[in-house]
Amino acid sequence: MNPGNLPQNAPAVAIIGGGPAGLMAAEMLVRGGISVDVYDAMPSAGRKFLMAGKGGMNITHAEPFEVFLTRYGAHRTDIEPLLRDFPPEALREWIHDLGIDTFVGTSGRVFPADMKAAPLLRAWLHRLRESGVRFHARHRWLGWDEQGSLRFATPDGERTVSADAIVLALGGGSWPQLGSDGAWVSLLAQRGITIAPLRPANCGFDVRWSAHFREHFSGEPLKSVAATFGDVRKQGECVITEHGIEGGLIYALSAALRDEIELNASVILHIDLLPDWTAQRVLTEVSHPRGSRSLSSHLQSRLGLKGVKANLLREALSAEQMHDNALLALTIKALPIQLIAARPLSEAISTAGGIAFTEMDEQLMLKKLPGVFCAGEMLDWEAPTGGYLLTACFASGRAAGTGALNRLQQPRNMQG
Ligand SMILES: Cc1cc2nc3c(=O)[nH]c(=O)nc-3n(C[C@H](O)[C@H](O)[C@H](O)COP(=O)(O)OP(=O)(O)OC[C@H]3O[C@@H](n4cnc5c(N)ncnc54)[C@H](O)[C@@H]3O)c2cc1C
Repeated sequence: MNPGNLPQNAPAVAIIGGGPAGLMAAEMLVRGGISVDVYDAMPSAGRKFLMAGKGGMNITHAEPFEVFLTRYGAHRTDIEPLLRDFPPEALREWIHDLGIDTFVGTSGRVFPADMKAAPLLRAWLHRLRESGVRFHARHRWLGWDEQGSLRFATPDGERTVSADAIVLALGGGSWPQLGSDGAWVSLLAQRGITIAPLRPANCGFDVRWSAHFREHFSGEPLKSVAATFGDVRKQGECVITEHGIEGGLIYALSAALRDEIELNASVILHIDLLPDWTAQRVLTEVSHPRGSRSLSSHLQSRLGLKGVKANLLREALSAEQMHDNALLALTIKALPIQLIAARPLSEAISTAGGIAFTEMDEQLMLKKLPGVFCAGEMLDWEAPTGGYLLTACFASGRAAGTGALNRLQQPRNMQG
């Protein structure tokens, strides 16, 4: 539809939040002949989406759909209907439609051809503008006034806007410098909406490193290790930080680790420093006579353990314990690290918690605020990295946009 083609009296929808969820809602609505205005607090739309593209934009995953669904854990039943309407395969086709190719990496993760978010976002915003969507940057939503109009703080002062329906797609609370700061929580709580507390997801953890270890090894990658918590074991990479530990391998276990810390104040994570070696081989090499060589050079020459890995052993064991071959071999295969706190939400990749699904109908409309739809990371679900976050944001944006469209296409006296 061209901008000029909208009838004068077309119903108007205000979408607040110009991330992937809000933009997808905009697309559904403008395609249905609705007049759409997108408001965002930031100077431009999609800032977090662009950031997600910095290290290689992983947009979805190519594993079988039934396996894909399990990634949403306890919230699978909430997310599944949204994904059934817009599964990963449909998302890929939608990206191809924007003129962007995708490819499947060796791990099954799906990326845009050049791994970047910017060309995709540029093409998408262009298509939305051409279709008639109007964008209002630097519009921070402040809630509703007494007449029920939306209040926005803008560089020119406060402005009020009325709309026939509203889609809220305000994101979670991580990386607030990119726009989604979770300030919406109090605005909706005041209206009686139940919101599960926002918590860090896909996050790092604090560890009480010794001053020596922190000083010498902060920023060092820990490559090709395996981490075990409970009966889950994952192999990959992580990074030692000033505060503790973070990175893909840790994020993969972070929901369970975070929950355990909330219950018991700390948790022990076990790291296998030589995941491709059997315990017996490690013990044999550790026990090999070392003559006059120091323990450090013995560990380096027979097991390849040096630098950060060797020093992690010294964090876990006393000087005396380091000379107990059986204990040393055991520790190399299952090095205990005590995690004492999740890093703050502002540093996390994503957010757990948000608007309870029980507050919304199946079209994602708030039952207590008819005509207000919600989408994206502000809903109460979480998922690991691997493209699962964006896929659910796109799918929920689509559902909320379609929901608002369906409502506006009903005669007014049927809208409830
Ligand atoms: C470093 C990083 C890397 C990531 N990598 C990946 C990845 O590879 N794959 C993946 O699937 N996911 C990734 N994610 C997560 C993904 O980016 C988010 O899940 C997704 O952007 C959430 O989409 P959304 O539309 O719900 O919210 P957002 O993208 O957060 O958009 C919300 C918008 O609402 C606006 N807003 C908030 N409050 C207000 C207000 N009061 N008034 C007006 N506007 C407001 C914000 O400015 C923002 O533009 C990554 C995240 C980070 C931080």
